[in-house]
Amino acid sequence: MNDPRAVGLAADAADVAARVAATIRPEIRSMSAYAVAKADGIVKLDAMENPYTLPESVRMRIAEALADVAINRYPDGAAEGVKRALRTSLGLAGDVGLIVGNGSDELLALITTAVARPGAVVLAPEPSFVYYRLDAVYSNARFVGVPLQEDFSLDLGAMLAAIEHERPALVWLAYPNNPTGNLFDAAAVEAIARASPGLVVIDEAYYAFASHTFLPRVLEFANLAVVRTVSKIGMAGLRLGYAVAHPAWIAELEKVRPPYNINAYTQAALPILLGESEVLDTQAAAIRAERSRVGTALARLPGVSVHRTETNFVLARVPDAPRWFAALRAAGILVKNLHGWHPLLAHRLRITVGTPAENDALLRVLEKTA
Ligand SMILES: *Cc1c(COP(=O)(O)O)cnc(C)c1O
Repeated sequence: MNDPRAVGLAADAADVAARVAATIRPEIRSMSAYAVAKADGIVKLDAMENPYTLPESVRMRIAEALADVAINRYPDGAAEGVKRALRTSLGLAGDVGLIVGNGSDELLALITTAVARPGAVVLAPEPSFVYYRLDAVYSNARFVGVPLQEDFSLDLGAMLAAIEHERPALVWLAYPNNPTGNLFDAAAVEAIARASPGLVVIDEAYYAFASHTFLPRVLEFANLAVVRTVSKIGMAGLRLGYAVAHPAWIAELEKVRPPYNINAYTQAALPILLGESEVLDTQAAAIRAERSRVGTALARLPGVSVHRTETNFVLARVPDAPRWFAALRAAGILVKNLHGWHPLLAHRLRITVGTPAENDALLRVLEKTA
């Protein structure tokens, strides 16, 4: 009677489909779910992960800390240990507000939810991180994309005109930008912050690979927040992002944050990892050095040009992106083919910097393809 296998046959498939169509919002039904590629046995250079593992001694200390976690209890809802470790590692003053998220993805969604009153506009340059647009759609806000210039710099005149005309509740600036890899002009960012009536969020996911940050200046502006993540510096699996802003902004965002969004294992492991700043800094330096080696080698291939990058990926224009992507895929190497995403990204491949051996494998395939 309670056999769960029998339940599957109960509902009529056409009836289910009709109810789904009548119930789920059309803008959601017309989307496709974010496809995450399977990683088994391939060289994964598509998702901006840090390719290096941790020293055995650090892994053992994490293992011991995780063994002591009381998983029968909810985690600390305020994630105090994580916030203390972040404040120490960033050198944050006590008067700066700090909120943590389950990845910065969650903070992006929380921020959008908090500002999305009916008719609210969310504005960002394009191409940029796709979640700025998706989160606006989820929150029923209107997304306005302002095209970047051909060289991927901000079109400041167009940005200021759009801000004046749309009065956006929220402006996103990925700094450096994903997927173009460049850092926007700091004076242009400042002008956008000063001209914006609402919140301006600087998304510094790639700060460890960049030459400039707005973090120390966040309280200079009445409407600035800086969002970061530990994903790109070697802890993508932990899912931890944070936002820094005036405490008055953070207090409102706290009302939207799910109370137990940082799980107990992450809370136990993160302070240990942040304490290993030498390991993290050494890995980031190795990635920056390899980035320059890969960029130089790619630029030597016929028909290839490489964009300036301040991230842990290299954006390259190749003669035939779908064919080059397929050649890499056939050799067991996964990169991101951006061809078809946006007119400015025609025939671009976004290649995450891997270990020296992974990068050598990539270069060997592309030397044959060129
Ligand atoms: C990777 C990335 C994120 C998301 O990072 P998570 O913390 O892993 O969710 C946010 N913004 C930009 C620009 C990114 O590239």
